[in-house]
Amino acid sequence: MNDFPKKRFPNLSPLSFLLSPFSSQVTLFTLLIFFNGCTGSQRENDPEGTSSCIKLTNVCDSVVMVGIGWDNMTAISTQKGIVVIDAGISYSLTAKYREVIEKHFNRNDFAYLINTHAHHDHTRGNPAFSDAVIVGHRSFLTEIPAIWKDTDRVLSRASESISYYQAQLDSLPNDSPEWREALCNKNIYMQLLRDVSGEPEYAVPGLMFDDTLTIHAGDVTFCLLYFGRAHSTADVIIHIPEKKILFTGDLFSKYGRANFRTADKADTEKWLRAVDWIESRMTPVDIIITGHGEILSRDDLQSFNKTVRKKWGEIQ
Ligand SMILES: [Zn+2]
Repeated sequence: MNDFPKKRFPNLSPLSFLLSPFSSQVTLFTLLIFFNGCTGSQRENDPEGTSSCIKLTNVCDSVVMVGIGWDNMTAISTQKGIVVIDAGISYSLTAKYREVIEKHFNRNDFAYLINTHAHHDHTRGNPAFSDAVIVGHRSFLTEIPAIWKDTDRVLSRASESISYYQAQLDSLPNDSPEWREALCNKNIYMQLLRDVSGEPEYAVPGLMFDDTLTIHAGDVTFCLLYFGRAHSTADVIIHIPEKKILFTGDLFSKYGRANFRTADKADTEKWLRAVDWIESRMTPVDIIITGHGEILSRDDLQSFNKTVRKKWGEIQ
């Protein structure tokens, strides 16, 4: 997504894993990092309680998701270092996510950050991993400057979002789950506003590819495929065969709903190739993770493949 979602957190509760047909592959253990009982100095460093909003979820062995609601990233601990998929909307917030990941894995050697696409809610956090190799599709070079430089729009939309959530906070019962959700959402935009109001830091991929790329990180392999222009110009899908995980970025959401912004005939052959690529890996895939931390089912993936084939037929 490349806008400012005012939406509820994705369905990431332990219950959602229980309901998933592939729940057996997901560790039913959700660790909430709460610092409600934090010391005075922690309160001074974090007066808005942002850290208390950060949630770490175990996906499977050596794989965790970290974030606040829809602002979410996945980290995989490998023999060659930690690999992160996407980097969130705010550099300062992502720096906090990084601390949580380091603490969880008890290591701080980040080997790669792979961006599923160039939209700012996936890449503004890139500088928090500037010690890692940042990976993305080559069209980042053209897409990302336009996205990052549009600071007036970002500032105005972030301010609108803060007002929106403040109104919710004013109307909801204090400390109710909904109030807490609104507080955490407001925190995301406050961090973004601060980042963009100052001297924003940017970090573009140092390793770019045109078509496919395979990253061998010791015991874990990352197979990357360029999807073709669809949700953005730089959509990449990532398959980890050893973990049976597929990352789909923002290409689709539940029930296979395609989030395409571009439907150019020139890209449709690539879409079909990507769908074939996905289908050849579907049986071993057990966990499908979207760009905002939703866990989808194989049925969702099948619906998406059908949608793409239908779109292709309409465009021909
Ligand atoms: Zn996007």
